[in-house]
This record gives sequence, C-alpha cells and structure tokens, in this order.
Amino acid sequence: MMEAKRLPEEYGSLVFGDKVMRERLPKDVYKAVHKTIVSGTHLELDVANAVAVAMKEWAIENGATHYTHWFQPMTGLTAEKHDSFISPEGDGSVIMEFSGKELVKGEPDASSFPSGGLRATFEARGYTAWDPSSPAFIKDGSLYIPTAFCSYGGEALDKKTPLLRSMEALSKEAVKIMNILGYEDVSRVNTTIGSEQEYFLIDKEDYKQRKDLLFTGRTLIGAPATKGQEMEDHYFGVIKPKVSAFMHDLDEELWKLGIPAKTKHNEVAPSQHEMAPVFETANVAVDHNQLTMEVMKKVADKHGYACLLHEKPFDGINGSGKHNNWSICTDTGINLLDPGKHPDDNVPFLVTLIAVIAAVDEYAEQLRLSVASAGNDHRLGANEAPPAVISIFVGDELAKVLESIEQGTAFKGGAKVKMEMGAEVLPHITKDNTDRNRTSPFAFTGNKFEFRMPGSSVSVANANIVLNTAVAEILSRMSAELDGLTGDALHDKLTELLKTTLVDHKRVLFNGNGYTDEWIEEAAKRGLPNLKSLPDAMPEWISDKSIKLFTSHQIFTEEEIRSRYEILLENYSKSINIEALTMQEMVRKDLTSGIIAYEQDLTNEILQKEKALPGAKAALEGQILKTLDDTSAEIAEKLETLKKDTFEAESIKDVQKQADFYEKKVLADMDELRIYADQAEALIPDEYLSYPTYGQMLFSLR
Ligand code: ADP
Ligand code: MG
Repeated sequence: MMEAKRLPEEYGSLVFGDKVMRERLPKDVYKAVHKTIVSGTHLELDVANAVAVAMKEWAIENGATHYTHWFQPMTGLTAEKHDSFISPEGDGSVIMEFSGKELVKGEPDASSFPSGGLRATFEARGYTAWDPSSPAFIKDGSLYIPTAFCSYGGEALDKKTPLLRSMEALSKEAVKIMNILGYEDVSRVNTTIGSEQEYFLIDKEDYKQRKDLLFTGRTLIGAPATKGQEMEDHYFGVIKPKVSAFMHDLDEELWKLGIPAKTKHNEVAPSQHEMAPVFETANVAVDHNQLTMEVMKKVADKHGYACLLHEKPFDGINGSGKHNNWSICTDTGINLLDPGKHPDDNVPFLVTLIAVIAAVDEYAEQLRLSVASAGNDHRLGANEAPPAVISIFVGDELAKVLESIEQGTAFKGGAKVKMEMGAEVLPHITKDNTDRNRTSPFAFTGNKFEFRMPGSSVSVANANIVLNTAVAEILSRMSAELDGLTGDALHDKLTELLKTTLVDHKRVLFNGNGYTDEWIEEAAKRGLPNLKSLPDAMPEWISDKSIKLFTSHQIFTEEEIRSRYEILLENYSKSINIEALTMQEMVRKDLTSGIIAYEQDLTNEILQKEKALPGAKAALEGQILKTLDDTSAEIAEKLETLKKDTFEAESIKDVQKQADFYEKKVLADMDELRIYADQAEALIPDEYLSYPTYGQMLFSLR
C-alpha cells in the first residue's frame, strides 16, 4: 500500500507528463511540445524524434519493454497493439529503439473495426496518429501512446478525432465572441470535464456463474430479492471493509496513472458505488475515464469482485450513469460558467449560459442521441434517473436573473455593462444554495453544467462532441449578430439578443421533478422531444439539421455522420441479439434444469407422502408443483415466440428496420418471457439453481 506521505511523489509516476518532459527534454523541444499541448499547434518531426528518444528512455527505466498506440475505435472500447522496442543487431544482440516516426504514426489493420461502410475491406489500412495533448503512460509493461484513429481516406474511425475537432470549434467561436465583448486577450477556450463514474461490485464467483452477466453485462432473468433499495440505506452509507480496500487500491492505481480520483461513496442501489475525479481538459478527461473503467475491472478482479459497468445490470433497482460535468474556461483563467457574485452583470457568463440553454434546446435530439445505447435505453425513459426528455435546471437564483433579462430589467442601465466584469474570482453563488435537483438531465451546479444522461459503460466523448458543437453553433450565430458593433450599439444589440434567445428557448428550462408523469405531459405540450429508445432517436442523427450542424463546424463529414448511424444501429441490433440468444439458453438450460429437479423432488415427495400417509393432503407441495407446471407452460410458449422473432430479426437487411424490430418485438418478447421465468425462479429453492440469485449477488458482499 502507498504511504500517504508519498502520494505527491507517486502521483502520475507512470505518466510521461509535463513534469517528466520538462526534466528530460531539451529546452526548445519541451517548449514546442508544450505549445502544441496548450494551443493545439502542429508538431514537427524533429521534435517528435527528440520526444521519442526521451519517452523510450523513461519508459525503459520504468520497466516497459513494449509500446502501443492506444486508440478508441467505434466499438466504444479502447484498442491496442504492442510492439517491443527491440531491434536485432547482426551479431545476435538487440538494442532498444523507438523513433519519432513510430511515435507519430501507426498502421493497424483497420478492417476488423466498425467503420459503417467507410472503409471497404480492400482498403483495410488505417492510421493512428499521436495525440500529444493527452499524456503517454505505462501500463502492464508497455508504453501507451494516446492516438487518433482514421481510415486511409482520412475519415475518423474513432471518438477522439471528432472530440478534438469539437473542442477546436468551440474554442474558435468562444474566442470570437469574447473578443467582441472586449476580452481581447482571450486566444483559446478550453473545454473541461469531470465525469463521475458509477459501478456495481459483485462477487467474482457469482459473476462467473451467470451467462447473462458474462455475455451481456446485465441480468436477463432473476426474481427480485425480498429486499431492494427501498430502505434507502446504501446511499453514502458506511463502506464495507473489503469494498473499502478495493476503493483504496483503485485510487492508488488511478493516481499512479495521473488520474485525479477524488471522491468515492456508496450509491443508491445495494452494491453500487461511485468514483468522481477532479475535472480536466475534455480530451484528457475522456481518455482518463476510459482508463478508469479498465482499471476498475482489473482491481476488482484482484479483490475477488467483478465490476459491472452496464447501465442496468439488475432489473428493479437503479442503474448506473456517468455524470458529465462540463464547463469552458478561457486561457486567461475565466470559467465562463462561473456566475460570480453578480451574475446579472457578468456578461461572459450570461452569454455562455444563454448559449448553452439555446444549444441544449435546439439540439436536444442530437444530445439525446449522443448518449443512446442499448444499455442506456433501460435507464432513460424508464422509471428512473433521468428521463429521455432533455430539460435544464438552473436553480431559483439564476431563474430570477433570466427572468429579469426576459423582462428587460437586466443590466441596470447601459453604462453599467462593463465588459471586463466577471474576471474577478468570486465565490460561487449557488454553492451555498441548497436547492439541488437530482432529477434533471442537465443541471446547473454552481460553475458548470452536469449532464446526467450518459450511460455508465460508454465513452463520454460523444456527449461532449455534441455539446461542444451545439454551443459553438449558437455562439457563432451570436457573434454574427454582434460583429462590428461597439459601445452602446453593442450593448443594446446584446441585450436584445440575449432576451430573444432566451424567449425562443426557455421552454427547455424546468426546475421541478423530472421523474413525474406530469412533467412528461408538460414537456410534450412544450414540444420537447421525448425519444425513448435508440432506434426511435436514430433518424435524427442523419436529419438535415444534424448534418448541417456537424458539417458546418467540420466535426464530421456527411459520410462520417452516416457511417456512425450505421455503426450505432448495427451495434444496437447485435447487442439485443446476443441478449436474446443468451436469455434463451439460460432459460432453456439453467432455469429449466432447476425447474425439473425441483418438480421431480416435489413429485417424489407427494408420492412418498401418499404411501406413508394414505390420504395425505400434500397441499403446499401440490400447489407449488401446479404453479410451477402452469408457469413452465407459459415459459415454453414465450420461449418459442422469442426464438422465432430473434430468427426473423437476424434476417432483416435494413439497419433501421432491423433495430426497430429488435426493440419492438425481440425486447418485448424478452420482457414477456422474463415475467414467467422470474415467477418460476421465485418458487425454486436457491440450491436447485445453477446460478446465483439477485439476493445472493446484491447482498452477500462483506
Ligand atoms: P457536485 O457536488 O455538484 O457533484 P463537485 O464539486 O463534487 O460537485 O463536482 C462534481 C464533478 O464536477 C467533479 O468531477 C468535479 O471535478 C467536476 N467539476 C468541478 N468544476 C468543474 C468545471 N469547471 N468543469 C468541469 N467539471 C468540473
Ligand atoms: Mg455531481
């Protein structure tokens, strides 16, 4: 275990970060790299060569024999292919080599990664390109180099490339408007993200015995335990010693990788927990979240646990999300979402706030889509955190500020619009404001927005790509209106612009309880979209509005948008297909053998009883046997329907129609089958089942 006092030393010890680079790189090389990292400028090959040499030496000193380009293909996972540093000399010996070229570019065979038709198999070549803005690190004896992944034709095949593009776009537009507003020293604006990660821990042995968890990440059958989360005794509850040891180990592993793990606590559901890091630049935060998920699984395994990252591992109790805390900060140190002491006078804040409101309202469908996955469909639109309808919570204080803007009482007279205001670092007004809203999908939380819809297992890249781009679009429209104006003319136009934008988009503001049916009705009246499932939402991804947004800011080409559409739908259908097949197998084999064994014993028991005690009632045994028999008949029928529909689904060619069918038919069949499977399971004693029950999995951890 790491000594507490050694933490500052150990923190980031496996990262080729700024500190190491400053120590090890020649001054001019360090300067060039640093400039690339802060301002996104291009890096020359001679610089890369120098970095490669230093990186290799550092990596070898720290036990690495290999290096790998590390990237995030559209599978949603990370990918790696390791090469050793060795280079044979003629005499049978080797030297350790690593060049700038190897650092900068890799050529993995791209043909086995999802491309949505972007890359014909005869053009299997794909490229990975070093992303110097995310630091390299050492893991399992390899030097990991974060990279972007693209096709031979230059199309993005990953999540990092569009994320970097969206950060650029937002920076460009935010700088433009800040300059118009008189902040001429602002030359770059950075997106910051802190993503809170929820997860479940269960016993590793339990995990291994359930095919559904192994193959799909969630339980497909399982009667509820007699206790759920109704006692509300887990949230922030005392952490059990073994779990605490896991969390401690997790923190240490993350810290060594330079991941600023900060907060840990028990979540609402039994066996559910959360880890929140300190926020970082978006790109690094996304990489770090991917790593966090991986490290969580690894450390869990070491502690005899399985870490479940699925959005809905257990029916009937809360699922897991990944709250995406998002803000933007200028290179002069202004957090543009920090209201300061006088939000009504803080022009950059108000402009940003209203731009975010407009962006979230206008591009609600795209934002909803950014978090769409088969797993997340079980959270959104279901009976729990957050609904599929996107609304924004701003809190009472800001609601008042916005009201005054709308009514034209803001800014307290023209001369008072001091464009320089808001730069002072002031206490956050809503920090002491106790009213918090846990039911809002998009909540203002003091100096940032918290987007609560992302699922626990997916990369947060998508959510931030859409958010950044949508806000960039609104800011660019605002700039177009304000450009060239100064003094009173600027002030008047700005006042009017903020007001009209707010009026146009205030329907998205909602401070009440987002989980109620009344809100869903009210939202429909307001015309807010309610896209319940991924297949329902997907057509919005390729709508004219969507294509225009992403192409005009050079985030995606139209081909890239369409390829992502294909990939998402295909992925969805494949996921449900695996679930459907796994469920059939579990019911047919695991559950049925339990039913048979128990029925046999019951039958024997009844016969024996009759023999021993002629006229014996055997009422209880008889009743259970009868119910089991009736339930089995239903199971048999539902199983047949599921089998037939799954078979039909597999043969549908059109990706959209196929996904629709999986959602409307196959998933519905699974729900039907589950009702009876769970009824049967509830009648059978645990020892007849070859897999652990909900009660066992959720409440057995020490
Ligand atoms: P809360 O109590 O609202 O969850 P916290 O202060 O605990 O607030 O922060 C939650 C997450 O938000 C953390 O990951 C934190 O680092 C992150 N966060 C804080 N400030 C910002 C910011 N300016 N930009 C992005 N994320 C932020
Ligand atoms: Mg939070």
